[in-house]
Amino acid sequence: MSQNKIVIAIDGYSSSGKSTMARDLARRIGYAYIDSGAMYRAVTLYAIRNGLVNADGKLNNDALIAALPDIRIDFHIDPESKKSHTFLNGEDVEKEIRGMEVSALVSPVAVIPEVRRQLVKLQQQYGIEKGIVMDGRDIGTTVFPDAEMKVFVNASPEVRARRRLLELQQKGQNVSYEEIHENIMERDRIDTTRKESPLRKAPDAIMLDNDNMTIPEQMDFLLNLFREKTSC
Ligand code: C5P
Repeated sequence: MSQNKIVIAIDGYSSSGKSTMARDLARRIGYAYIDSGAMYRAVTLYAIRNGLVNADGKLNNDALIAALPDIRIDFHIDPESKKSHTFLNGEDVEKEIRGMEVSALVSPVAVIPEVRRQLVKLQQQYGIEKGIVMDGRDIGTTVFPDAEMKVFVNASPEVRARRRLLELQQKGQNVSYEEIHENIMERDRIDTTRKESPLRKAPDAIMLDNDNMTIPEQMDFLLNLFREKTSC
């Protein structure tokens, strides 16, 4: 059975719902799930906490690169929610990394080639035994260019901003639609224009535009594709 396991890469724009669909798909098919964006967010939190961002929001790239050997990121299943939580140097930071402070700084952190190289290496280790679903921006292009199943997710910025607003409000965070919309547009801009592994659809990725799709419809789409890719 294990020789049939594949690697599934789900890439797409910020807040396109890819993490939810990747996690749900992994659960349905009994695969591991890795949220690569959480890794970039954890590095960003480290920078904020360690004074590597000045009062104007400017990041000290050199200091962050020098600190990379001190940054340890891993994932553990939370016993209560049964969801995977992100740990930074042994501390559960799942809640902190989702806030607007980290969201506002994460794309400039993800531009730094040294940061990317370190995280890509870690991500590739998670995929050695296959049987994994990973979501991000460069999974199908850089991390796993040979992934057997690649999906590229998109939705309009307005739909994405509304979804994200709801998600943050449910977590009790006080944030406006305008602030989120602006953050999404800015992250898209930085993610698509950076030099090192920019966000783009791999030529062999299947496009999933989910503006008008329900979560069950998206799951059906992914399960059908998965069956197609794994039936010999
Ligand atoms: O997926 P999420 O929105 O949590 O990712 C946060 C940020 O991390 C993205 O806006 C992007 O700048 C960066 N990222 C990346 N490459 C990945 C995953 C995330 O550059 N594979």
